[in-house]
Amino acid sequence: MKTTGMLKIAILIFSMTVLLSMSGCNEPTTVSGLYFDTLITITAYDNTNPQVLESCLNMCAEYELIFSKTNPASELYRINSRDDSINISKDSTVFTAVISNDLYELLDCSLQLSQETDNAFNPALGQVIDLWDYKSTSCIVPDSTSVMKALAHSNPDSIILNPDTHTLTITDPLLTIDLGGIAKGYVADRLKEMLIQNGTIEAVIRLAGNIYCIGDKYGQSYKVGIQKPFSTRGETLSSVNVSDTSVVTSGIYERYFEVNNTIYHHIIDSHTGYPSQSDLISVTIICDESVVADALSTAVLIMGKEKGIDYIDSLDNVSAVLVDSSQNVINVGF
Ligand code: AMP
Ligand code: MG
Repeated sequence: MKTTGMLKIAILIFSMTVLLSMSGCNEPTTVSGLYFDTLITITAYDNTNPQVLESCLNMCAEYELIFSKTNPASELYRINSRDDSINISKDSTVFTAVISNDLYELLDCSLQLSQETDNAFNPALGQVIDLWDYKSTSCIVPDSTSVMKALAHSNPDSIILNPDTHTLTITDPLLTIDLGGIAKGYVADRLKEMLIQNGTIEAVIRLAGNIYCIGDKYGQSYKVGIQKPFSTRGETLSSVNVSDTSVVTSGIYERYFEVNNTIYHHIIDSHTGYPSQSDLISVTIICDESVVADALSTAVLIMGKEKGIDYIDSLDNVSAVLVDSSQNVINVGF
C-alpha cells in the first residue's frame, strides 16, 4: 500500500513537471498596436517568430492607408473626397477610379452582402454616419431634414465595380463609402492567412470585437466570452467554445450617447437613417470568414430577433449568439 501511494505521488509530480515544462516552452507571444481607432492584439500560443507577429502590425498600418475613412492619405478618403488626380471619368457627374485589389475585393464583398441582407448592411451610408458624432461630448441628435437629405445619397446601387477595368464608379456625386462595419473582418482574414502561411498553428487575432482563432489554444478549443452589454468590459453573459474560426460581435453599447433616456448608437438602420431600433442589442456571428461575420453581425443586429434568426438559419456554417433588449441570450445554428 505504501509503495502504491508513493508511486501515485511520483506519477503526480512527474505529470505536473511535464505540464509546467510544456507551458514553459510555449509561453504566449503578444504584439499590439493602435489601428482603425482600436487596439489590435495578436497572441501566438505556439512558437511563431515574433518578427512574423510584428509584420502583422505592419499589414494593419498598410490596410489603414486603404480603408480608413478619416485619414486624408487613405485610398478611401481620396475616393470619398473625389480626388481629381485619380478620377478618370469624362462625365463630370460620375467619378471613376482604378482601385487597389484589396479595396476592390472588400467593396465587391460589401455590395454582395448588402444585396443578401436587403441593405441592412449598407456600405453607402457614409453621409448618414457622418451626421452621428459619437466622439463629441455635445451629444447632438441630427435634425430629421439632414438625416433625410443624407439618406437620399446612400443607395449602394450607385457604387459600381467593373472587373475588366478594375475600376470603381460612383454615380451619385454626394455618396460616400463607409467600411467601418466590415473592414476589420477583412483585415482579420488577411492576417490569419499570413500567419498560417508562416507556419502558425495556434494564435488569436483581436481587432476590437473581431476575433479570429487559429487552431486551438494549447490543444483545447478557445473559450470566447460574450460581453454583457452596458457592463464593465470583460463581464460576460455567456461564452462559445471554438477552434479555427472567427467570432465577431456588434453591440449597440460599443459607441453611443444618450439624450432624454434614448440611446443613440453607431449601428444605423439604412431604411430610416437613425440608429437601429430593433429588439437586439448585441449580435455575435461565428463563421470561417471574418469579413462575412463582421458584415452579418452588423446586419443581423438591424434585422432584429425574428428576421435575424431566420436569416442565420438559412445560411450554411454560420452560427450566432444574440442578446435581446432584456439581455436574454439566444443561440442560433449551433
Ligand atoms: P460594427 O461594430 O461591425 O457593427 O460596425 C459599426 C460601424 O459600421 C459603424 O461605426 C459605421 O462605421 C458602420 N455602419 C453603421 N451602420 C451600418 C450599416 N447599416 N451598414 C454598414 N455599415 C454600417
Ligand atoms: Mg460589423
